[in-house]
Amino acid sequence: MNVKVLKFGGSSVADPAQIRKIREIVEADPERRYVVVSAPGKRYSGDSKITDLLIMLKAVIDNNIPYEPLMAPIKERYTTIADELGIDVDLDAEFKEIRSDIDDDCSGNYIVSRGEYLSARLISAYLGYDFVDTKDLILFDSKGRLLIEETNEALSAELAKHERAVLPGFYGSYAKTGKICLFSRGGSDVTGSLVARAANASVYENWTDVSGMLMADPRIVDDPLPIKNISYMELRELSYMGASVMHENAVFPARMADIPINIRNTNKPEDPGTVISNKGADDGSIISGIAGKRDFTVISIYKTMMNNEVGFVRKALAIVEDAGVSFDHIPTGIDSLSMVIASSELEDKLDEILESFKVQLKPDEINVEEGISMIAVVGRRMFRSVGTSARICGALAENGVNIRMLNQGTGEINVIVGVEAADFEKAIRAIYKEFVSA
Ligand code: ASP
Repeated sequence: MNVKVLKFGGSSVADPAQIRKIREIVEADPERRYVVVSAPGKRYSGDSKITDLLIMLKAVIDNNIPYEPLMAPIKERYTTIADELGIDVDLDAEFKEIRSDIDDDCSGNYIVSRGEYLSARLISAYLGYDFVDTKDLILFDSKGRLLIEETNEALSAELAKHERAVLPGFYGSYAKTGKICLFSRGGSDVTGSLVARAANASVYENWTDVSGMLMADPRIVDDPLPIKNISYMELRELSYMGASVMHENAVFPARMADIPINIRNTNKPEDPGTVISNKGADDGSIISGIAGKRDFTVISIYKTMMNNEVGFVRKALAIVEDAGVSFDHIPTGIDSLSMVIASSELEDKLDEILESFKVQLKPDEINVEEGISMIAVVGRRMFRSVGTSARICGALAENGVNIRMLNQGTGEINVIVGVEAADFEKAIRAIYKEFVSA
């Protein structure tokens, strides 16, 4: 039998009604055998996520302030879930143990990890699945870097002992000390991907509160179409430009094992969502999505005969590197070189970089322009297809958008367009219209 691995995020485990939906989803398909859960998230806007409460609890404990007033609402949320769903887990005993670990000076990571731990304890009992703790299965080195192969071995060996199981997301432990180590926020997505790889799953279903990725930002384009299929590489391009539905490290384990990731909506399980896979299925449209980011600074360096000066680009890059700044693009002309850098990277380093450019590169002129927006038009079918850039340029010209920069990687899966801040939204709408709704 195929194995499907499911991960449910904070909004999917936020209250009893959501957890009922999980049971329906899991029971609808016998292949759904391993389930990874987050800690309960917000039930309504203004509510607190359990993980945020636990982080506060840790701060309170660190400052030797009595923690009981914060512990009580946390316990209350789990108790409501257990009572309403008739789940038979002894929460008094669980919280007694947590309190005693806190009094024994446990680590802050341990406290924060209890959100996922308790969530998995309750949901495993509710589904009638085994509870498998990830503590000794997801392993990190002493610097907190995931030990991906050791983790895969430990997880596979354990899963082989369980027909069906629920596992907590977000944490594992340091291989040397056995103490809890956390992923960064949103890290249950990574746990799900690791479990999918270890279980040799046919698919990793990532259940959240949206029906997959959209072709453009709905705050800019009205009712953008969902992306049905996308390749891992396209996803990287879009996420890099700010369009993201998952933790960025969640892709790697599934990708290594060639397991497709299906983003699904717990509140609309009938929607097919977005499938992310190595190739991306062939569903016809030239572009897969458009994403954009504001606030880039473009530094342009002009120097006559620059093209004859061997090592010019290397020197320019070394200056930026020495300042600890990473750049996004370097479009070049015969006698000019520009660097497109996120303004947040530059902050107080711009003057120092400009000074070094002047001294070391001896340019004729340097020009700095702030507030440039970058738009990525991404699509694997652009490869070897004629005319995509022309259509992008045409659509922008028709809408009176001046293109400040245009860059197409030789991989031909994206075209990057730089525009002025005032044109950002207009440009995205024009490109969307040209390719999607024309
Ligand atoms: N509960 C953690 C967070 O809020 C991890 C997760 O949900 O993935 O970031």
